Amino acid sequence: MISFKKEIYNTTYLHPRKDFQKIDVFAEARYDPLTGHRVRIYGIEWKTKRVDFFYLGEKSKDRCPFCKDALERMAARFPKDFLEEGHFKKGESTLIPNILPYAENAAVVILTKEHIVPMGKMKKSTIYDGISLIFEYSRKISSYKRKDYNFAHLHWNYMPTSGGSLIHPHMQVYVTDTALNYHNRVLEKAKDFKKNTGQEFFSKYLKKEVEEQERFILKKGRCNLLAPFASKGMLGEFLIIIEDSYNYREILDEDIKDMAEILRLISLFFEAKEIPGFNLALFSSPIGEEVILNHIRIYPRVYRDVEVFATDIETPTLLYGESFCLISPEKNAKDLKSFLETNYDNWED
Ligand SMILES: [Zn+2]
Repeated sequence: MISFKKEIYNTTYLHPRKDFQKIDVFAEARYDPLTGHRVRIYGIEWKTKRVDFFYLGEKSKDRCPFCKDALERMAARFPKDFLEEGHFKKGESTLIPNILPYAENAAVVILTKEHIVPMGKMKKSTIYDGISLIFEYSRKISSYKRKDYNFAHLHWNYMPTSGGSLIHPHMQVYVTDTALNYHNRVLEKAKDFKKNTGQEFFSKYLKKEVEEQERFILKKGRCNLLAPFASKGMLGEFLIIIEDSYNYREILDEDIKDMAEILRLISLFFEAKEIPGFNLALFSSPIGEEVILNHIRIYPRVYRDVEVFATDIETPTLLYGESFCLISPEKNAKDLKSFLETNYDNWED
């Protein structure tokens, strides 16, 4: 069964701003209910500082390969027997081959004509077009290569804090038969869970989160948004679980619309908190297997210190795999809910 395991630990020191009195500081170690991954959570008031991406954007505009003229003239094209037009297009989004061989099939969607779209300014329809193009490409490459590729690893590095080197908004996908490393771990653990309980993990987990109402935020259609019990990001994490949907081909047009709407709401929340970027990734079951529900993880990314470009990922996180979260998932969920309630009138495009 699913358990929300946590332990309290403390550290003691003589506090420099409290007349060097001896104090105990308490924190929590929580364990991901599926993978057992430990995160350390300590609620501290930590404010991000605004990053001027317009300035950086202007500096990088001249050499941007995704701005309109360069994109039409210079971007890689698909072979004509695969796609006569060379690029997939929908609305203002364009999907092109990724020139770096990240995977057997790797593509990039350039989402907008605008070179820079800061947090909160991306339209819902643009997010919808981008995700739709990724699944259109994934289906088409499968039939072109006469293979039932198991996965469409949709992911998004939004803004340079996320590691994205190009500021021009773009999403990516790898269409492969194999899971990526962490995804593999999730699948293995979910297989064990199913073997032991006869049930799919994320359906059970979602049910428990809905019952508890501590971290559950909202539901649109089949998409459920929550702040996961063991959030990994320095400023927490959000999770969208799509009910009754196991592999990428089972994600319907309505689901993409709901996902786009939820992502827009999250981006408005991030804008209000001055979080300039995020990482996002889709996790699915292989075709024909019901191991995990389709779900999307969204991980806010900030500079820890804007002035020295310190990132929010340090050695313990990167090399030891230890996660430190400065905000509790419960507070993150509560803050997002109250933000949406306060700004309800501004939800729509
Ligand atoms: Zn550009």
